[in-house]
Amino acid sequence: MDHFSQFLAALARANGLGDKITWHFYPGMLLDSYGKWWDDFGKRPCAHEGVDICFFKEGKKKITPLAKNANIPAMDKGLILNRCKDFLGESLVIAHERIHSGSPKVVFVYSHLEIEKDLVPGCWVEKEQIIARTFDTSKKQSKLLSHLHISCVELMDEIPLDALDWNLFPDREKVNLINPVFI
Ligand SMILES: [Zn+2]
Repeated sequence: MDHFSQFLAALARANGLGDKITWHFYPGMLLDSYGKWWDDFGKRPCAHEGVDICFFKEGKKKITPLAKNANIPAMDKGLILNRCKDFLGESLVIAHERIHSGSPKVVFVYSHLEIEKDLVPGCWVEKEQIIARTFDTSKKQSKLLSHLHISCVELMDEIPLDALDWNLFPDREKVNLINPVFI
């Protein structure tokens, strides 16, 4: 669980939020939820493939969403394997081998972003390097607030790097989705 909590602390630092905040998660933001946490709070078309990070609270102040274009740091040193479109913005697929050294087939997907232009497959990123900003969802008239989606994906077979995308990640016959909260 250390990696995820350290990542949340890094995300707060990257956005000048200090170390006193707590992050808030509604059930629909968690792995495998069928619930929406936006708009009509209805049902998702398929089980959620990861964790959405958006809301935080400082002391007794009210729960606040991340700003549009919030800075997104890398969880750890890692190699960019792919960069692909998602239904809001773009996703970055990264292998963080120090986090999953025992299982090289685990990849991390950071989604709904506007990614730095020079970050292309084959590039290395450093721990806490700012890799992207959250996608400004108002550009697509989406009722979703700008947020970071993180998936942790265990690949069952050899898959070409350019096929690491959103056609693959929801396919539970080809991938095993690990709960990022417990990494
Ligand atoms: Zn999500």
